[in-house]
Amino acid sequence: MYNLLIVKYGEIGVKGKNRYIFENKLIKNIKNVLNSIGEFKVYKEYGRIYVDLNDVDYNIVANEVKKVFGVVGVAPAVKEKKSYDGLKDLALEQLKEEIENGAKTFKVETKRGDKSFPMTSFEMSADIGGYLLKNLDGKIKVDVKKPDVKVICEYRREWVMCYTKVIPGFGGLPVGTNGRAMVLLSGGIDSPVSAWEIAKRGMSIEAVHFHSYPFTNERSQDKVRELAKIISKYTGEFRLHMVNLTEIHEQIAEKCRDEERTILARRFMMRIAEKISNDRNFNALVTGESIGQVASQTIEGLTCTNDAVDILVLRPLITMDKIEIIKIAEMIETYETSIIPEADCCSLFAPKKPITKPKVDRIRRSEEKLDVEGLVERAVDNMTTELIKY
Ligand code: ATP
Ligand code: MG
Repeated sequence: MYNLLIVKYGEIGVKGKNRYIFENKLIKNIKNVLNSIGEFKVYKEYGRIYVDLNDVDYNIVANEVKKVFGVVGVAPAVKEKKSYDGLKDLALEQLKEEIENGAKTFKVETKRGDKSFPMTSFEMSADIGGYLLKNLDGKIKVDVKKPDVKVICEYRREWVMCYTKVIPGFGGLPVGTNGRAMVLLSGGIDSPVSAWEIAKRGMSIEAVHFHSYPFTNERSQDKVRELAKIISKYTGEFRLHMVNLTEIHEQIAEKCRDEERTILARRFMMRIAEKISNDRNFNALVTGESIGQVASQTIEGLTCTNDAVDILVLRPLITMDKIEIIKIAEMIETYETSIIPEADCCSLFAPKKPITKPKVDRIRRSEEKLDVEGLVERAVDNMTTELIKY
């Protein structure tokens, strides 16, 4: 029945010149996500974005489009040659489907773009509503205040259109409209969620993963590739940088105090990520840290981690607790992959009793025993990069 999708997007922040940047990016990102299922016409008309369905099931297409950040909702609709009677029949057909899905009450809303039509939009809504009631004898009632279904009818100069359901999207801003962020992506639950959250604000991303091959195996890297792939459903393709941290872990283990290992390793990760960001013109680092979650994420721990770099560090999960984070991980479908047990580079080298209140001065002094610059440089030189796409 449906022949197109109406893409609804937020109006906030899309005023004036920005509106075009926003809309064009949105169209590009929608086209991109649809590439995986076929070729679709995605276009802007009268300040709205449409996707022609070409006889493909609307569920399949809407399910992809709703993942695109900036999309607030997706409405499957039928658009036809202009005919007022035709419009009434479209409304009837769609309301019948809604009744089958359990709807008990409805209301009609009409938009009249063709000002030559002799009825006002209010009169049209009443007329179409009456027609629906008459043809659905007693199966549904009108409720203008809180209807189960809104039957939206549009009567335009060239065509008529009707829709009843809006599938919610995630909102946010189109990826690529707000700078570039380098995500520190572990194989855990949190960092994939932080990548998703930051991309939702319109940042394009790349990711860096630290492994300790041969102490960690190939499978733990594959797990991160898999997580990155899931994220790329929302963000489009991106680069994943793989950095070997073994030499750094070994040097820390050999020369520094056991309890400071984690915090020192975290500082190296930040420095390396900062260097890659600067080389690639990125604006910020992103981590999955949240206050108090583990020993290295106390306020003192975060202060020490932050102290290692000058670049802006974004922590979208900072106030969330684990239950909230898991809920998002499940929704975006990274959870199942994140919980596969694989050794992480940090868990292998983790101290028995990590320090919970590290002091910056003290940590800096510990680092004096290490060739920080050389270690960072070598790690970056040996990095490998791959392109992740869905
Ligand atoms: P996650 O679920 O993201 O692994 P976590 O609670 O295990 O988080 P930590 O291991 O303390 O937390 O790491 C904090 C943050 O540091 C992570 O969210 C991630 O951004 C970054 N990080 C930790 N380990 C790695 C790694 N091996 N590669 C890349 N980033 C990492
Ligand atoms: Mg982790």
